[in-house]
Amino acid sequence: MRCSLCGREAVVRVPYVGRWFCRDHFLELVESKVLRSIRRYRLIDSGDVVGVAVSGGKDSVSLAYILHRLSSVANFSLVLVHIDLGLGEYSVVSRRVVEDLSRRLGIDLVILSLRELLGIDIPSLSRRAGRPPCSVCGVVKRYLLNAVTVDLGLDSIATGHNLDDLATYLVKEFLRQNLEGIAKLYPRTEPLDGLAGKRIKPLVEVYEWELKIYSDLLGLRYVDRKCPLYDPYTLDNVLKKKLGELEERFPGILLGLVRNYVKRVDDYPRPSIAGVRGCSVCGLIASGDKCSFCKVTMKALGEPMGPKVRDYIRSIGRKYVHGQIL
Ligand code: AMP
Ligand code: ZN
Ligand code: ZN
Repeated sequence: MRCSLCGREAVVRVPYVGRWFCRDHFLELVESKVLRSIRRYRLIDSGDVVGVAVSGGKDSVSLAYILHRLSSVANFSLVLVHIDLGLGEYSVVSRRVVEDLSRRLGIDLVILSLRELLGIDIPSLSRRAGRPPCSVCGVVKRYLLNAVTVDLGLDSIATGHNLDDLATYLVKEFLRQNLEGIAKLYPRTEPLDGLAGKRIKPLVEVYEWELKIYSDLLGLRYVDRKCPLYDPYTLDNVLKKKLGELEERFPGILLGLVRNYVKRVDDYPRPSIAGVRGCSVCGLIASGDKCSFCKVTMKALGEPMGPKVRDYIRSIGRKYVHGQIL
């Protein structure tokens, strides 16, 4: 088969456009979709300093690589952020992969280690707090990524959520008829002064299979195994698999869902920000008196850890000259 753009030998067929692509044109296709999302959804402005949340998996590793390639075109700079969750060998390997990537790309890396920050890993935190590990992990990741964004003064934090992830969340919220939840899934959230940083999802128009091929064609190192806490029978994971089957039968259906959703997002009720305030302990965003992170750490450790975490992150920031991270 020949590339539909240049006639060279093709390496991949892209079902949703019904065409074959050579290596270079496939890489270009993926990168141009990300650039298009950045512009269309106003994810990044010229001069921005963007944090990239890198777990070490193929999605966030590809994200860092793609943003690095686009940073000179769209004039922004990057800092990588990795959370070491203390999940045994899995976290050790993940951390190494991200450190490698940081060296390879020549981009600064901020590592937040739960053991260092809290003296405890996710499984123990979950046991002591009496909450399921994945829910505690979600609280911790969201909190740390938000604290990094606010306390290092980043313009935004980018995550590796891809098209399949967004489609899954959209369908899940639809099934539950949680329409405010649907509006919240937009690939950009607005920052709230001092409470929450801007979150962006530059990969929302890129399928997971495209990221796998992208990273493999480039020989990027990433962690291929699933998180040890992964459960294939959660609603999210079952839905994602079913939607993948639907996509195979009807190529482009999920891309259509995402593109039509972002056009129509204003048709969904806006989530109320009436109850949103600063956590009475740490000052970052909370829906009640205290944020979830301060509540979970209070229960597990007898002390809400938000303020200590924020101090630690600010102390990292001070290491850089003139408040500039890069
Ligand atoms: P997940 O919540 O595991 O599906 O991951 C979604 C996104 O969150 C990833 O693509 C990353 O951008 C970010 N993320 C997840 N785990 C970590 C981690 N340990 N360190 C930094 N970012 C992470
Ligand atoms: Zn070509
Ligand atoms: Zn708090």
